Amino acid sequence: MGEGEPGITIVGGGLVGALLATLLAQRGFAVDVFERRPDPREAGYAGGRSINLALAERGLHGLRLAGLTEEIMRLAVMMRGRMVHHRDGHTELLRYGRDDSEVIWSISRGRLNIALIDAAERAGARFHFGRRLLSAAFGNGVTMQFHDDGADTAHEHGCAFAIGADGAGSALRAAMNARHPLGERVEQLGHGYKELEVPALPDFPASSLPSAAAAALARGERFALEPNALHIWPRGHYMCIALPNAEGSFTVTLFLPNAGDPSFATVATPAAARALFEHDFADAVPLIPELEKDFGENPVGVLATLYLDRWHLGGHALLVGDAAHAIVPFHGQGMNCGFEDAVELAELLDAHRDDIAWTFAEFERRRRPNAEAIAKMALENYVEMRDSVADAGFLLRRELGRLLAERHPGRFVPRYSMVTFTRMPYAQAFARGAIQDTLLRELTTGRERLDEIPLDRADALVRERLTPLETQ
Ligand code: FAD
Repeated sequence: MGEGEPGITIVGGGLVGALLATLLAQRGFAVDVFERRPDPREAGYAGGRSINLALAERGLHGLRLAGLTEEIMRLAVMMRGRMVHHRDGHTELLRYGRDDSEVIWSISRGRLNIALIDAAERAGARFHFGRRLLSAAFGNGVTMQFHDDGADTAHEHGCAFAIGADGAGSALRAAMNARHPLGERVEQLGHGYKELEVPALPDFPASSLPSAAAAALARGERFALEPNALHIWPRGHYMCIALPNAEGSFTVTLFLPNAGDPSFATVATPAAARALFEHDFADAVPLIPELEKDFGENPVGVLATLYLDRWHLGGHALLVGDAAHAIVPFHGQGMNCGFEDAVELAELLDAHRDDIAWTFAEFERRRRPNAEAIAKMALENYVEMRDSVADAGFLLRRELGRLLAERHPGRFVPRYSMVTFTRMPYAQAFARGAIQDTLLRELTTGRERLDEIPLDRADALVRERLTPLETQ
């Protein structure tokens, strides 16, 4: 691409589109972003789903490059591990990492999106809000039709090539697929989710404040639960989780199958939701004063994995983020993975401005195996979160894994840590994770306690099967 030629058009100014716009504008590209929603800084953020998100190292790296870490981390709440709420009401913290250098962060989707839009504009990107992509034609360049939902007008935009960051239901993907099939396959999880709220302590209706929470409020605290944890109520085939928000509330997400019992088919009314909570999540009930209202008003979210054989249409169009590889949310990596896309694409486009078709193909070659690996790990993590954290075999393997990680730093690294605290390619984390899992299963089979495991044999197996990791 030479001087005076058209710049880069991005469809979708969500998390990934706005970060990509920032990184490209910082590299001197002229960037236009077309976003369906109104400007969230004027209209308020209309997120529609997952009020908060877990931010980990891969996402943080993208924010660092965008110069946003300080601003974002001021709004983030540290989560040290999973706080498991057992059926009998006792809780235990399962740490994610070795210490507070290995944690994840809960961040508001709306605030993060606004900070990214501001950063992109500061770097020179232009946002066109209220512009919904209807269709795209690919010939000599790309011609796109947009609709302004607010003003009810249509307009056309021409560009040399387009990047689709318009999320799981991508309109650009549909247009590309109509031109040349992308091999699209959507696998429904068969489970959905519903969001509920634990209010910040000062916002609790006075009459419903449980005694422990009343004491916390008297101490001047804002959080009704331990703030520095991701809370989980694992219940076998289903679960609840809660992530803290900076102002003191928690967003609770109930994950249930779509069919069977219990499921969103049997728990279909606010009264049924209360009965489920009283039976299965009793310690959470007093903390959700608007349970019936939240359950009645909030929609059931759909969970699915998107697989594509191709992410690009020659040098005309490319998909990134959820538009290319939407995954289930159980590893907290969808956005983190999308931010890695943005970094990799910005660097590739910067280095290869003259061969867009090659750049798009190369981006797909580098990223698709990694997107497929995190898609698998995210599905596996659902079973771990809802089921295994209460399973003795899992806990023994986890304990042994942590011991081997201590004995072999840089060689035996728990898979969760490789995914969450490093930027090693997801595909590599998946492959090493499989070797480690086999090893842990071999060593723990038929054993119940850590002190029954022959550590000299464990050490020998680690050295034999795992090469030292290259430091990042
Ligand atoms: P989106 O965030 O979907 O943004 C797409 C943008 O495109 C939107 O702004 C939309 O308005 C716009 N758009 C759509 N259609 C059009 C159109 N036709 N024309 C113009 N604009 C359009 N990830 C994590 O890393 N950590 C987590 O903890 C986490 N938790 C999650 C919990 C839940 C319940 C869910 C559902 C997801 C979670 N994710 C998490 C995944 C994360 O939300 C996504 O991976 C991330 O939002 C993808 O960003 P994106 O920009 O690709 O897509």
